[in-house]
Amino acid sequence: MQDWALVVHGGAGMLERGGMTAEHDSGQRAALAAALQAGKSVLQDGGAAVDAVEAAVAVLEDHPGFNAGHGAVLNAEGTVELDAAIMNGADRNAGAVAGVTKTRNPVRLARAVMDHSPHVMLQGNGADIFSEQSGLEQAPNDYFVTAERQEALRRMQEAAAAGDGDGVFDAEVKFGTVGAVARDKAGNLAAATSTGGLTGKRFGRVGDSPIVGAGTYADNRGCAVSATGSGEFYIRANAAATISAEMRYRDQELQQAADTVQADIRRMGGAGGVIAVAADGTPVYSFNTPGMYRGMALADGTLTTAIYGDEA
Ligand code: ASP
Repeated sequence: MQDWALVVHGGAGMLERGGMTAEHDSGQRAALAAALQAGKSVLQDGGAAVDAVEAAVAVLEDHPGFNAGHGAVLNAEGTVELDAAIMNGADRNAGAVAGVTKTRNPVRLARAVMDHSPHVMLQGNGADIFSEQSGLEQAPNDYFVTAERQEALRRMQEAAAAGDGDGVFDAEVKFGTVGAVARDKAGNLAAATSTGGLTGKRFGRVGDSPIVGAGTYADNRGCAVSATGSGEFYIRANAAATISAEMRYRDQELQQAADTVQADIRRMGGAGGVIAVAADGTPVYSFNTPGMYRGMALADGTLTTAIYGDEA
């Protein structure tokens, strides 16, 4: 039992020891720790889980090392279209946006949809207009673009032109979506997820992250979940809501519930991972990739970050 708990992720994928520089490794861990600090300061002062997950995700959106906000992956046209969602487990209120192009922190736009609109999901131009009208910080689309993401798109498009791959999945498959789940002192749960989607995506493609029940879900009667990975599979598995349902209807422990859904996604051919927290504050990671950027902060003083599969 934890009085409060916060778990974050920065994407799953082919993250193996020796596969990244020491600077990159430590920079990513520092960003995860900063996100945990931001959420922790909300939770330890008795703040709401929904405020904590928003604060934690906004830190990772601002960091170029993750596929969300600044540093998000590029679509086939070389621009950025962002998806995000937030959900409050106390009343299952939720807000989500898809394909937005000018909000500095898409998680804050998802929050505005939840708090200040009668809707759950807004997309495209309408969501961009709602963002401006809500007074959220705007950014030109090139604020989100980094040289690393331009290079990744170029390599992928060249490989596709040479007959290698379909021009959407990264050959190295590093999903860098960010997310957070929390339990606050009042016992309420919340989840938030933010992403640029998949490199080279086309035709207005939307992944699992902003789909309530797929990539993001929170229900005080079950758990809060944020996913990362091959979004099409997480949508088809209704992954996040199913983990909560496994707990509620089949009395599974959270770890077992998350592993069950991850195994199902693996059988379908999908890859990725989830973070989750139960109503009693039990924190969980589950992933079927070599690694996942992740971390947790707990009321007992724990504050840890990890990347590779062999880390606790
Ligand atoms: N799940 C995200 C998507 O499919 C990608 C990611 O996790 O990086 O849009």
